[in-house]
Amino acid sequence: MHRYSSETDRLAQRVIDHAMRRIRMDPPPLDGPQSAEVLARVAGTTITEAGLGGDEALRLYTDVLTPATISTDHPRFLAFVPGAPTEASILADLLVGASSIYGGSWREGAGLVHAENETIRFLCDEAGLPDGAGGVFVSCGTAGNLSALVAARDRARRNRPDHRGRWTILASEEAHSSVEAAARVMDCDVVLVPTDDRRRMMGDAVSGVLAGLTPEVADGCFAVVATSGTTNLGVIDDLASLADVCERDDIWFHVDGAYGGAGLLAPSVRDRFDGIGRADSIIIDPHKWLFAPYDCCALLWKSPDDAVRAHTQHAGYLDTLEYGAMNPSDLAHHLSRRARGIPLWFSLATHGVGAYREAIEVTIDLANTAAEMIQASPVLEVVGEPSLSIVCFRRTGWSSTQYQEWSDRLLRRGLAFVTPSAVDGETVLRFCFINPLTTADDIELILSTLAD
Ligand SMILES: *Cc1c(COP(=O)(O)O)cnc(C)c1O
Repeated sequence: MHRYSSETDRLAQRVIDHAMRRIRMDPPPLDGPQSAEVLARVAGTTITEAGLGGDEALRLYTDVLTPATISTDHPRFLAFVPGAPTEASILADLLVGASSIYGGSWREGAGLVHAENETIRFLCDEAGLPDGAGGVFVSCGTAGNLSALVAARDRARRNRPDHRGRWTILASEEAHSSVEAAARVMDCDVVLVPTDDRRRMMGDAVSGVLAGLTPEVADGCFAVVATSGTTNLGVIDDLASLADVCERDDIWFHVDGAYGGAGLLAPSVRDRFDGIGRADSIIIDPHKWLFAPYDCCALLWKSPDDAVRAHTQHAGYLDTLEYGAMNPSDLAHHLSRRARGIPLWFSLATHGVGAYREAIEVTIDLANTAAEMIQASPVLEVVGEPSLSIVCFRRTGWSSTQYQEWSDRLLRRGLAFVTPSAVDGETVLRFCFINPLTTADDIELILSTLAD
């Protein structure tokens, strides 16, 4: 099973042929889920003592399993946050998979870690983080937020040795659910900060909340989590005034740019991120708007030493990994890792940053085009302001059941994947544009199904 044979060779050809066919498909099949019962029946028992053989496993993969999985890169997949990996990044993912590389330590993975670090440095420069900043690619934004907040509390524990009460994170009510999830894991509290009339968290509001807390609770406030591109509406908090408050009160300033951080590369919206370079930590998910395959989150540290202190694992069998260079495993809550930054690096190296700036601008334009089309329709209304590449809108007169039925119908027909969301308790529809291959015709086609 480990030796390369003529049989492996034949299977490799078939696997690579299939991968190439999938990459070439324009558009890829949208596909859609099946129940566990249906899949169990169609796939049958696949794990057997004797094995099915590679041909049969590949047939199951191509004919049974992937048709029951949605292609996130379909140009009319506009739900949640879609994926749209570049072809170069997909090819690099294949290379990394074929190379058995351990990306946790410099000693073992130096070459690829070097390229990952250059990619991290590029993102730090886009954000305006100082020399000496650094970071690591982790699996997802949820893991990135947790790792950042753990280091934040670790620093607070060192700086406030007399604090005996609970530890508290400040975040806006628009913050992503993973912030609450991190607080649960860490057994911390979250105090929600009200947003302004444009749904932005402002420094003044944080100051106001802090002033209203008892001294003991205020003393336990160790981090402010700002969002640079909320998941629902793409809103960017007022990072500069938040940085002021954090610097004044010695509070860790974390910026969650899992979705929107990629907007840093787009000249048309760059000024909305002013102040981000003063963050203690930032996350940006390349598997969202930087066109990399799953799973990939860039976790950036202003001062990587904070991360090393909080996250380095110590054991007799690990100490030999010291090589005089920072180990990726020391920069987050993880140890073994795929060199998952390589697909982004390969694609950036291939195409250059300019191509990324343009592709991101294309998706921002799509959101503006969609908003105009929605406003022009007698039965549709934009909800909130379109921001970055997200537009929320209502179909007048529809109940939440009608929205869901419409969404299910579109997916069943293989036409589009657009899901309802909620804004201020009202069910609405939401477009998130990530894929530069989406066209105005795609939007028109989807909107036309809302008219009747
Ligand atoms: C998507 C998202 C996350 C979580 O990222 P995952 O990679 O899905 O874990 C966190 N914050 C924001 C703002 C997001 O949009």
